[in-house]
Amino acid sequence: MNPKSIFNDIQKKLKENAANATNAPSAPRAENIFKPTKAGTMTVRLLWLTPPEGMKRDFPMINAYVHRFYDPNAVGRKYNKVTCTTSQYMDGENATGFRNCCICEAVSKFYKDSAGSPSAKELYNTFHRACEGYVPVYVVTGPEDLQGKVKILQYGKQFKDFFNRKIFGLTSKNDAEPIDPDEIIGLDAFMYYDEDKDEIVTTGYDLIISTTIENITINGKKTPMPKYTLDFSRKPKTIDEIEGIDLNSKSGIKYFKGINDEIGFDRNFLIYSTPEEREEFLKTYIDKDIEKSKMSKNIDALLNDSSDEEE
Ligand SMILES: [Zn+2]
Repeated sequence: MNPKSIFNDIQKKLKENAANATNAPSAPRAENIFKPTKAGTMTVRLLWLTPPEGMKRDFPMINAYVHRFYDPNAVGRKYNKVTCTTSQYMDGENATGFRNCCICEAVSKFYKDSAGSPSAKELYNTFHRACEGYVPVYVVTGPEDLQGKVKILQYGKQFKDFFNRKIFGLTSKNDAEPIDPDEIIGLDAFMYYDEDKDEIVTTGYDLIISTTIENITINGKKTPMPKYTLDFSRKPKTIDEIEGIDLNSKSGIKYFKGINDEIGFDRNFLIYSTPEEREEFLKTYIDKDIEKSKMSKNIDALLNDSSDEEE
């Protein structure tokens, strides 16, 4: 261990993160993003887009963990969201230096007693980190309003685990099945710009998303929820044009490089909340709720319990 070089690395990282920190919109901009919510099958090609100048993202997709809260009675901002330090691009999951944020720490206390205390369970369910993934895609086939367009696919844990397994060969905690090396699609899952050859790699494997709708009971109410079956196509396919633009031409390369900015991928979704913003979230929503619940013996007991419990 060389503390001096580690310190320099940390300082560099902190500076980078601070430079990347944005006053991000409190809710993602809706125009370019979609989530498959209707029954049916669609095929998309994932796009690996280079981040804009001055921004850093190593992974092709943005795998974020967020803490979010909607307060209909709030004056001013009703919806608030902060990114958790366990977000993949913030050196969280599947990277080095996994560390819980201050909200995770508070929430883990609720988790421990959630089985015996409805109020603790509710607090846990409300505030624990939620997986929010984003990846740009070209919609090959699908609903009329999406087909032939470049959009941002928003996804949750099932997609994230699937991508980790099929693209990177990583299993998740609950995924006991070993991976057959032939199963791994790797880079062929993407359309991307190859800098060495100065060309767009247009041949790859499409992602097939099959959606069914199931009614799930939430708080006694039947709620329709999408269920997904995910697979990559077994046959490689070449996509030569998008929106009528030939991807094998100079103007095609220029168009492809401009997509990121056009759809606001990194600009709107690569969000680094600051430690101060997370502290503020904790103070505003969770500490306040704890204050309200002080009458509950369960909560008091929980607060006195400082043991760590993994999610
Ligand atoms: Zn967290």
